[in-house]
Parts: sequence; structure tokens; C-alpha cells
Amino acid sequence: MNKGQAAACAVCGRKAGRNCPASGGVICNSCCGARRGTRIDCPPECTHFPFGTEAYDIWLRVDDTWSKKAFKYVIDKVGKEEFGRRAEEFTPSSTDWETAFIEGAEIELMNCLTSGIDDDNPSIGTLWEKEGWPGLNNDERYMSKYRCRSLPGIVEIQKILDDKAMECIDLLDGDRGRFIVFDRNTAGRAARFDKIVVWITHYPHFTRLACSGMRLPDTLAGSFLSEIRARTKKTRKIQSDEAVKRYLVEHFTEAFDLIAELGDILRDQMIASMDVDQCRAFYKLLAPRKEIEAILEEKPDFEIREDFEHEPDDPPDVSYYRWLRRGKAKAIEKKVRGLIQHGNEDEDGVGILGTVRLTDNELMVETRGRALFKFAGKLIRSYFKKRLSLVDKEIAPIERLLEEHADSGYEPEESSEKIPPEIEAQLLNRFYEKRYSDFLDVPVPMLNDMTPREASHTPAMRMKLIELIKIHLNGIDKMRVEKGLEVDINWIVDELGLDELK
Ligand SMILES: [Zn+2]
Repeated sequence: MNKGQAAACAVCGRKAGRNCPASGGVICNSCCGARRGTRIDCPPECTHFPFGTEAYDIWLRVDDTWSKKAFKYVIDKVGKEEFGRRAEEFTPSSTDWETAFIEGAEIELMNCLTSGIDDDNPSIGTLWEKEGWPGLNNDERYMSKYRCRSLPGIVEIQKILDDKAMECIDLLDGDRGRFIVFDRNTAGRAARFDKIVVWITHYPHFTRLACSGMRLPDTLAGSFLSEIRARTKKTRKIQSDEAVKRYLVEHFTEAFDLIAELGDILRDQMIASMDVDQCRAFYKLLAPRKEIEAILEEKPDFEIREDFEHEPDDPPDVSYYRWLRRGKAKAIEKKVRGLIQHGNEDEDGVGILGTVRLTDNELMVETRGRALFKFAGKLIRSYFKKRLSLVDKEIAPIERLLEEHADSGYEPEESSEKIPPEIEAQLLNRFYEKRYSDFLDVPVPMLNDMTPREASHTPAMRMKLIELIKIHLNGIDKMRVEKGLEVDINWIVDELGLDELK
């Protein structure tokens, strides 16, 4: 149809100017609005079809008017007070109660539309549909049909396609495979392989996320899934991912709390397993100080510290030594694997085993971590034999040190010379490029100390390798979003032949 030429609407025959790819002719605005997607089979690329791929902002407008009408319909059915009471139950704990309550209301709305008042009654969404969607226009009816079939899930972002579109999977809906999610907010700040617990609405040509979701950190995903599956089995007596989704409909904010709880547990476990407790052993000198000093000077592991700062209770004749990972102390590497990681001595310097403090009548050894402490004790006995006798041991758990630190009101000083962000990005780029340059050929504990390249040739290691690379891709992508990092490690994916991560 030529521009400017008066043409007739394919439906009502009145003057019309809107191209209609479905009919190949033109259509008037009101016929298009009243029929698109329902009585007209609109192609996804039509810019007037809110549920096609080219009309993001029209969809937002429909979403806005639909939400208002949906709230009204549901509140009329449930009753204002009852709805408010239940919305409050769904309200996530937050300092900003008002915003949180709106989130709770949105969750309760989805709960009502999809799961109903109780098990004997159909969902309010089903009732609404049976009545023929009173109060809704054509676009809103189209939206409602799919909204009322929404369920929560765990979206994992596979790829960010542009400023609004992401390729995703649902960890609780494996059969569906990959689908395209439209969401400007999420696409703008998400990283590849981020996981979000969220309500999901699948439309024919794209998927949308509803209500606010919660990010599920990689480190918690496994324990979250097994706990939520266990809770589902206990309450619903069935075990399937579909049942987990139904469970989440009624316990959506409980999932938020669970993620927070699991995060706390993991942090405590990490602190407990870090082995960074401050350990001290106190020895009484049974030989003259000069003799002890002579041994300290003779061993290559000890280095006197000229620059030390006196502790308030230090006697005036005190000397401090660094206990370095040299000489016999180097054997520590074999015994305490992973605690000290150093490469070439000339390049990276040597690791530190601990500190030694010497006075006229006492020698004190301090280490970080119980494993090092035990090792240091053995070495002291072999070096000094009967010249020292152990008087006391003192182990301060890291939790206590952290608490004392917090109590002291200490706050790190903000650097007065802030690095400009573009310089920071440059430095980061250089750092990560270097870090990944030999990545393929360095053994990784998660791969049972195989290198990624070796693991890629070992079929049994494939799942672990994919898991590892996903963590790296996720981390790099987070740095891109937060710090403008531009490092691309897709060559690693190619080199390892992990096509499923493309
Ligand atoms: Zn018309």
C-alpha cells in the first residue's frame, strides 16, 4: 500500500492507515486493537502486536492496565481485609516496609489467580476466564490467559542477547529447554548464569518475569534445591519439579528466607573451615638467650624484623623474627596443601609461616591456623630440643577476633586518592587477561587437580568442567556489569569444546 493513499480497513472498511502484516493490507486502529492476537493471527514481528517481539513498550502499557484490573477483580472476590492479611504474609522482610508490602501484594495476586482460595475451589483466574474476562479489553484478555497460567521457577540466564532480551532456562522445567526472556531491568544488570527464583509467564513469542525475584547464588543453589524439594515432598506428598513449582506458589517468600538462611550457614561454615584462628605458643628459655639467637640466625627460615612495632606490653629487650617458608619450613607445602600458594620464590617472594618473639626468658610463636601451628610446634622441638619448654598455648578463634574488630568501631579509611573508574577498568582488564592466559594448563582443585585441558579430554569430568567454567563466565560477566571489565574468555569455551556454554 502506498503512503498517503487513502485505503480501507480490511475488517470494517473505514479509512485506515496502519499496515497489517497479517492481512497484507491496512487496518484501522480500533479493529487492530480489538482483534490482534485473538481474531487476527498476528506475526511476531508486527510492531503493533503487544505479544510479538517488536512491541516491548506496548506490552508494558497493557501490563500496567491489566495489573490494576486484576487487583480489583481479585480483591472484590477475596475481600479487602483478607487480601491485605494474606499479602502481609507474603511480604518479604525488609526495612522498606511499604515497597515490601507491594511486593507481597503482587505475590498474593499471582497466588490467587493461579491457585485459588482453597483446594476445593478453582483458582480465581479460572473463574475469571469462565466468566469471559469481564472488564478486560482484547489485549488484557490475551495477557490474562497466560498470566493465570504462570508459575514460579528458577531462571538461569544462559546468554544476554541485548539491552532487554536474555536466553534462559528454568531449572525446575528442564523439558522446556531455552526460552527468551524480555526484561530491561534484569538484562541491564544480570550476568551469564545468574540464577533467579521468580514468577515466570511464558507467552507464545517470549517469556516475562513477574513480581520481584531473588538471586540464588551459585554456592547455595544445590542446598536450596534439595531443601525446597524436601519441603515439597513433606507437604504435598509428591516428588516432581512441577510439585516444587506448586509449593513455591504458596510459599514464595519462604524461598527468599531460605536463601538468606543458607547464606548465613555457608558463611559460618567457611569461617570454621578457613583455619585462620590466631594461635600462640609460649616457651620458657632453658638455655641462655644468646644460644637461642644463634640457632635462629643459623636457620634460613628466620629473618629478624628491624621494622617491627612494639606491642604495648612488650619488654624493652624484645626481638621479632619472621618465620619464612624456607629451609625445613618449606616442607609445610606437602603437609598443608593449599594453605600457602606460592610459585617461584624469586618472582613471588616466600610465604610466611608465622612470627617469633624472643625475650630474655621467653620465646613466643604465633601462626594463623591450627594446621600451621601444629607444624610449627614440631619444628620448634626439632630445632631447639631441650633448650625450650612449652609453658602455654593460646588459640583465639577468628570469630572472636572479628567480633573484637567490629566492637572497636574500626572503619577502613577511604582512600583520598580514588582511582578513576576508567583506569581501574584498564588495570582489571590487564589483571584478568594475565590471569586467564595460562588458565587451561593450571591444575584446579575442583577438577581433582586436573588442568581444564586435561579434564576436557576426560568424559567423566565433563560435568565438573562445565560447572567450573560457568562459575568463571558468571564472575567475569559480573565484573563487566559492575566494573566495566571487557575481558572475553569465550576462547576458553571454544578451546575446551564446551558448545553447550555458547
Ligand atoms: Zn477497522
